[in-house]
Amino acid sequence: MLDRARPLPAEPVPIAQAAGRVVAEDVRARVDLPPFESSAMDGFAVRAADLPGTLAIAGESAAGSPFGARLEPGFAVAISTGAVVPEGADAVVPIERVVKSANTVEISLEVEPGAHIRPRGGDVATGDVVARAGERLTSARLAAAAASGLAELSCIRRPQVAVLATGSELVAPGAPLGLGQIYETNTLMLASALAAAGAGVLTQPSAADDEATLRQALERALESDVLVTSGGVSVGEHDLVRAVERELGVEEVFWRVAVKPGKPVSFGVRGDTLVFGLPGNPVSALVGCELFIKPALRALQGQADPLPRFEPGRLIVALRRNEERDEFVRARSRVDGDSLLLEPIVGQESHMIVRSGAADALVHIPRGNGELAAGSTVHWLRLDA
Ligand code: AMP
Ligand code: MG
Repeated sequence: MLDRARPLPAEPVPIAQAAGRVVAEDVRARVDLPPFESSAMDGFAVRAADLPGTLAIAGESAAGSPFGARLEPGFAVAISTGAVVPEGADAVVPIERVVKSANTVEISLEVEPGAHIRPRGGDVATGDVVARAGERLTSARLAAAAASGLAELSCIRRPQVAVLATGSELVAPGAPLGLGQIYETNTLMLASALAAAGAGVLTQPSAADDEATLRQALERALESDVLVTSGGVSVGEHDLVRAVERELGVEEVFWRVAVKPGKPVSFGVRGDTLVFGLPGNPVSALVGCELFIKPALRALQGQADPLPRFEPGRLIVALRRNEERDEFVRARSRVDGDSLLLEPIVGQESHMIVRSGAADALVHIPRGNGELAAGSTVHWLRLDA
């Protein structure tokens, strides 16, 4: 699947709109940071050689308004954090360490040259890399780019993802439920998960399980970079999604994966469009989204590490392993001293989305025989991270 998910083209993005985007090329600093030698403390800029001693106050260097002259021997300049260190000064003495009177300051200690001075370029120098191609713009990276003088960044285009729920029993949330109907939950769930993963999401009303309706809805949805359907990919007589997609030119790459829940998941391509068929049970769709679709979106955005990030933790109860399929169990995580403990929620069936709503962790239980004992180390994925 990742082989088919090639990075999308880049586009210029104003920095104010770049949060969460992935940079397409290395971002290099346009200025030194700090751009000038600046004070790390509120205090007095001095010549270290003059100390200890009583110095005459020559003036002030405040943040944004530098002292305009050179610091002469025997003088000090009042200075604020972040203000320009005057020429001639080579140290700053914090305000807490001086005795100040109207026009003089008495400093009874010695200081090293450079004390409490932030050298120019100490954080980054002009031309240094601030963010690497393939890195996502977190809030701190955005700040780094702004501090380094960038107003626009080259980012990978957002993948456009069409989400289509299928099933004749589905009713929009809030409408009255007739016998046999259930509320449609997957569009909302997938749209919010995929938007958080950097996608531009296009939704449409759910489609009934008949070929003509499906064909019409899928035709439109196949214009996107990614199509995600839910429902209709299993083995039932009304599971028509894959057949209709095939007629529309989708080449199936795989169908069914040895995972639980989510076994009937399908993946295909049409041209550059990636086509995912998630099973309709909401928990299966949730798990399939984490395991398959989010990694694909990260790859399309050129992210260097697209695979899900599993972390170690400890299971607090014993769990029976599935012999044939790797299981992904919804659990609640909590920190206990140096341990991360995982407690599976009660109600692991794939239709139980309300039970799953209480989980923040997806725990990987590799297939095998017998039980995984309480206290075993397992690997888990943070949900909605
Ligand atoms: P399917 O994969 O179409 O066989 O659907 C499996 C189960 O998931 C059935 O019980 C469906 O009613 C249910 N289901 C399918 N799609 C949705 C949806 N969008 N929202 C909630 N439940 C769904
Ligand atoms: Mg169905």
